[in-house]
Amino acid sequence: MDFMTGLKRTDYCGDLRLSDAGKEVVVAGWVQRQRDLGALIFIDLRDRTGIVQLAFDEECEKEVFDKAFSARSEFVLMARGVVRERSAKNKDIPTGEIEIAVKELRVLGKSETPPFEIVENCQTAELTRLKYRYLDLRRPDLQKNIMLRHKITKVTRDYFDENGFIEIETPMLIKSTPEGARDFLVPSRIHPGTFYALPQSPQLYKQLSMVAGFDRYMQIARCFRDEDLRADRQPEFTQIDLEMSFVDMEDVLAIGEGYVKRVFSDVLGVDIPTPLPRLTYEDAMNRYGSDKPDTRFGMELYDLNETVKNCGFGVFTSAIEGGGSVRGITAKNAVKTLTRKEIDKLTEMVRGIGAKGLAWVRYNEDGTMASSFAKFLTEDEMNAVLAKADAKPGDVVLIIGDTKNSTVLSVLGALRGEVAKRLDIIPKDKYNFLWVTEFPFFDWDEDTQQFVAMHHPFTSPMDEYIDTLESDKANVKAKAYDLVLNGVELCSGSIRITNPDLQKRMFALLGLSDEEAYAKFGFLTDAFKYGAPPHGGMGIGLDRLIMQMLGCESLRDVIAFPKVQNASEPMTECPSVVDTVQLDELGIALNKTEE
Ligand code: ASP
Repeated sequence: MDFMTGLKRTDYCGDLRLSDAGKEVVVAGWVQRQRDLGALIFIDLRDRTGIVQLAFDEECEKEVFDKAFSARSEFVLMARGVVRERSAKNKDIPTGEIEIAVKELRVLGKSETPPFEIVENCQTAELTRLKYRYLDLRRPDLQKNIMLRHKITKVTRDYFDENGFIEIETPMLIKSTPEGARDFLVPSRIHPGTFYALPQSPQLYKQLSMVAGFDRYMQIARCFRDEDLRADRQPEFTQIDLEMSFVDMEDVLAIGEGYVKRVFSDVLGVDIPTPLPRLTYEDAMNRYGSDKPDTRFGMELYDLNETVKNCGFGVFTSAIEGGGSVRGITAKNAVKTLTRKEIDKLTEMVRGIGAKGLAWVRYNEDGTMASSFAKFLTEDEMNAVLAKADAKPGDVVLIIGDTKNSTVLSVLGALRGEVAKRLDIIPKDKYNFLWVTEFPFFDWDEDTQQFVAMHHPFTSPMDEYIDTLESDKANVKAKAYDLVLNGVELCSGSIRITNPDLQKRMFALLGLSDEEAYAKFGFLTDAFKYGAPPHGGMGIGLDRLIMQMLGCESLRDVIAFPKVQNASEPMTECPSVVDTVQLDELGIALNKTEE
């Protein structure tokens, strides 16, 4: 029988108000809770908009009352009745002034006792919740997140549409051209022994769309990266991908800023002042020890080379003589929080990320001082350090020296973040955006002992470095930019190379022979022979943006069906073993399986 015959929903549960009193309505949803008071039964009915109270009393027909009596949590019900004012009002919910006096009730679906309660801030282990993700998603906090995600993508499409962008779907099955992360591979049955890759980003297709003359492209694009397990990464994620022709960096940044302003205003009602601040990569590293600095707090790095270069402390002087540096940060009013024991923990931490040790001064409120290196310095030298550190009683000075300047900067950057957390000085209600520009083109990869592209090989070098690409590789800067929000990289992009000869030079500098480069990217360099407009763009990490906007702790809170850290999905248990028949068709024999 069709449960729904003759009954159509008229209202969502959460929308009813006192002004609806007297109206006959039909609502549908899930039983949040049933309370049996003998002659009276109440059911809280929940749908994606909220909860409404259904009331069953002596005026109900027996059949209706009996159904209400046997209803259990998470049963799916449809109810027809009249809205009336409640005698005992509930101020905690928007529908708390009314209830529905039910005349007709249909049980549309029964439910076993759910493995956890469908409530906000459910404390059940996340793995259990992810196994039953469809139940987890019924919880009001996740419902809210996913619905806001919809709103954000809607505003996104509107904004880019209004600015002349057209959405183009680029393929999911593409040629494997590994650069950056590892590709997910898909075997081809029709061409045994060959593979497609899932896109790490639509990079080359969006550039080819510019060659094709579409002028402004955007896509809310799924991207796949087979990276090793790292905290809060998803092997598939969504990027707001865009590309524009006949533009320079300023044009692309202006579109990015306009987008941020629009989405924060439309979705959160928050005004983001523009233009957004900018820092060059070099300044970001020198001031914050990070290319994605969190600027919601100060504690900037300072250089102590001049101050300590002749002092008696070998760790400092040898770092400087070895071509490195000595730099510090000053944690204000931190002496109570950063006890000796805490400093020992921080020392462990910095050793774990490449530093040899941590030099420190604890400047007590009474003016006395304890320090790991004071005994090697004269009083004047120590005073000079404190002056440079702008240290006052109550402050703690933390110093790193190393023969590798990059180690000093990155370790101090990490230390700055950690100390800020411990001191609890990071304001929670701020959205600090920042463009980081003038990235180095090349990055030295310690593992492979060679230069790789810091952004990607299609990024244009800055004009002033074109003549020294080969002779001074380490210092070449790129027309590349990142957008950072509260210390998280939200977006990266660049102006692209469109000159086939320059592209060839860049490939060569990245260690690709002409043949290798042609085999991998020939389709792109060929396309550039037929009239390529200057173009540039960016990719904005949608999941991360939403997570930041909603103040969530994890990407899993803003993705409907996420993977867990080991890249599996607990609900469907993928990845999974496949039939030998399927493998045979693909011509694949396994020589490695999971234990
Ligand atoms: N494809 C780049 C990325 O995924 C973004 C861009 O350069 O547009 O990071």
